[in-house]
Amino acid sequence: MKIKSNDPIWKDVYSQSKLPASLEVLKEMSTNLWWVWNYEGAKLFGKIDPILWKKTEGNPVQLLQNLSFQRTEEILADKELMAEIAKVYADFKAYMNVKPDQTKPSVAYFSMEYGLTNVLKIYSGGLGVLAGDYLKEASDSNVDMCAVGFLYRYGYFTQTLSMDGQQIANYEAQNFNSLPLVQVMEENGEPMVLEVPYPGRTVYAHIWKVSVGRVPLYLMDTDIPQNSEWDRSITHQLYGGDWENRMKQEYLLGIGGIMMLNKLGIKKQIYHCNEGHAALINAQRLVDYIQKEGLSFNQAMEVVRASSLYTVHTPVPAGHDYFDEGLFGRYMGEFPNKLGISWQEFIDMGRVNPGSNEKFCMSTFALNTCQEANGVSWLHGKVSQRMFAPIWKGYFPEELHVGYVTNGVHMPTWASTEWKEFFYKRFHKNFYADQSNQKYWEAIQSMPDEDIWNIRQTLKNKLIKYIKNEYKTTWLKNQGDPAKVVSILEKINPNALLIGFGRRFATYKRAHLLFTDLDRLAKIVNNEQFPIQFVFTGKAHPADGGGQGLIKHIIEISRRPEFQGKIIFLENYDMRLARHLIAGVDVWLNTPTRPLEASGTSGEKAEMNGVLNFSVLDGWWYEGYREGAGWALTDKRTYENQQYQDQLDAATIYQMLESEIIPTYYAKNSKGYSPEWIQYIKNSMSQIAYNYTMKRMLDDYINRFYKKLATRSAVLTKDNYAKAKEIAAWKEEVAAHWDCFEVTSFTCDADFAANGPVVGKESTFNLVIDRHELVGMLGAEAIITKEDPEKHQTVIVEKAEFELKKEEGTHMYFELKITPTEAGNHKLGFRIFPKNPNLPHRMDFAFIRWIQL
Ligand SMILES: *Cc1c(COP(=O)(O)O)cnc(C)c1O
Repeated sequence: MKIKSNDPIWKDVYSQSKLPASLEVLKEMSTNLWWVWNYEGAKLFGKIDPILWKKTEGNPVQLLQNLSFQRTEEILADKELMAEIAKVYADFKAYMNVKPDQTKPSVAYFSMEYGLTNVLKIYSGGLGVLAGDYLKEASDSNVDMCAVGFLYRYGYFTQTLSMDGQQIANYEAQNFNSLPLVQVMEENGEPMVLEVPYPGRTVYAHIWKVSVGRVPLYLMDTDIPQNSEWDRSITHQLYGGDWENRMKQEYLLGIGGIMMLNKLGIKKQIYHCNEGHAALINAQRLVDYIQKEGLSFNQAMEVVRASSLYTVHTPVPAGHDYFDEGLFGRYMGEFPNKLGISWQEFIDMGRVNPGSNEKFCMSTFALNTCQEANGVSWLHGKVSQRMFAPIWKGYFPEELHVGYVTNGVHMPTWASTEWKEFFYKRFHKNFYADQSNQKYWEAIQSMPDEDIWNIRQTLKNKLIKYIKNEYKTTWLKNQGDPAKVVSILEKINPNALLIGFGRRFATYKRAHLLFTDLDRLAKIVNNEQFPIQFVFTGKAHPADGGGQGLIKHIIEISRRPEFQGKIIFLENYDMRLARHLIAGVDVWLNTPTRPLEASGTSGEKAEMNGVLNFSVLDGWWYEGYREGAGWALTDKRTYENQQYQDQLDAATIYQMLESEIIPTYYAKNSKGYSPEWIQYIKNSMSQIAYNYTMKRMLDDYINRFYKKLATRSAVLTKDNYAKAKEIAAWKEEVAAHWDCFEVTSFTCDADFAANGPVVGKESTFNLVIDRHELVGMLGAEAIITKEDPEKHQTVIVEKAEFELKKEEGTHMYFELKITPTEAGNHKLGFRIFPKNPNLPHRMDFAFIRWIQL
């Protein structure tokens, strides 16, 4: 008999667990990221199902979707757990019910990436984590903020290593339905679809909402069937693809981002561009003001500028995005028409030298369309002024309006649960609400040394356990020899000084520096009496061969017998590993080439955990370092030659380890810890940590930029944009007649004419200008500069403005009395500028004419 059968036929079905009504609150909490930084929340989900919590890497949505019927029954019967659910839910609701503080300006924030939790893979590194931390703090501080970004299908890559240390980039598709977010729907229950005009077609996007506590983050997703394959991939990868894809992304972030807010009916006072990627928001905002409010291009510029802030994160011109005129034109070609300007005028807004054939630079466009701009540390603010100075010809870098806000980190995200419980129990009750106040951190000084040491050891042990659990399988798979893997893992010693290094493997970060003199390093790590271990981690961009070579180099060194178990490389640096690593090591090492680290934030995360920094005086550490609270590698450059400089810096690192850091750590007392080391920790937490919280950073943005912008834009938009129109008309008039005015006489007193400037002696200058057709007011000023030989820079010694004595007809009579205060070789110059007290700063209308005495 012939047996009849056919192949099995399957249908993909998803059996979702249905939560009983009394557990529905868990579902509500799972889709708000509040649990990420409120440890009661994360702890609760951990208790709901410890195994699933681990398996899902801490994703509560996935956990609830997979919760078994049996476990659900157990929870319902567990009175204690049910009470805890009710308590946490009540806390969550109380938090959520607070209304935004209307005394602070409202803000729309735009960023290419957000690092909020490891579960949501829409970040690559520092920039994203900063943006994520910022939204969390905006929520905690009650700022009326919303944010715009992308929901990437593949996000940034996860990193594995081949047997020989070659980085392998893996892209895993995210299943949006098991992520802590919700899709934005129309009233009829259909997904909301954003329609963005692209050249020759429309690109469609779904909208997803992530609730970051009280702050909504709206994410665009083009991976939907309405789009062609070519457009579906716009939101596939973060920093992937070619320039055209990048153009399509930045077009969507800027143009689509504003159209999305319009569709959602959201309007804010301030528009904040986090890095230049989102600068095209201003192109769309201009169009909106022109088309909907009937403003002219110049009037719309006044309004848009007055409500915009641009934050730059890179210290080098090569770090900005530049688009070829052809490519840029393909996407933005319609805009000049919509704006009522010429193509030339439009593309020149993205050029340092208008009229040249430079590529279109997103940062230059951002600077031309935002009233305010800032770098991300004091030093980076200065570097940014130099970097951007060529845009404002005739001015000196230090005259630029480019300011700074030093980056910070969200303490409740980055301080370990152990520390947060400690702060909660032992610090003042206002600590959380006022965490950037040094007063509260100072309490650490009077805490028992042993308590601090115990937390430190607990965190180190947790890190070691994490490494053993997470890496054993991976290493057995790709490092061969199981005996060796086991021996490496066994060698990790909780009593040894543990030093961590984790960051992007860009060459300027100099991950190789420690390995400059391997004999000397081998001696240091193999000292039996004072053992010391290093943990390295970091990804290199898939297109960065140099960075990947560095990883391979470190892997090879770590496998040499003398470094086995002493130098450990951990794959796939992400927020989850960062949280363990940054809290668990004793020292956080950072060795960038100065001044290329704009700020850096991982060292600040270390600060929140009593981990000491050992770093080059660059970025945030240039401001943060205090003696007796960490260690600094000097900021002085001894050699022009980078290789020599690296050798010198490496030698300094070894020397400081040997003579300061290791002896301090091992000055242990009978209780097994070093009181001196604990004193360092206390100093670092009380003198440094408070100032690098996200609370301080957000307050700085509000006080330095948001309030100023909100005030000015309220003035400009009042009474149907009356002030904006007035200023635009004034600028148009001055621009049209700038070449008309002439200097009819410019004289100095006889003494000055004979002897030049004499210190302590007053000189008088008289200037007469005939303004002819020019109506707008002018100002005149003298500038004295000198050369700073050390920095090879020209710096301003003094600036003095002429006084307008009288006007007769079209003649303006100016006088300046000036008394030099400093002897030496100087340069003296005079210049005339348009003057209007309604302008926020000189760069707002940077016309200038230098004149001859
Ligand atoms: C904080 C963080 C960074 C940024 O660190 P830097 O000090 O700026 O290099 C990068 N990646 C991850 C996963 C982080 O958590």
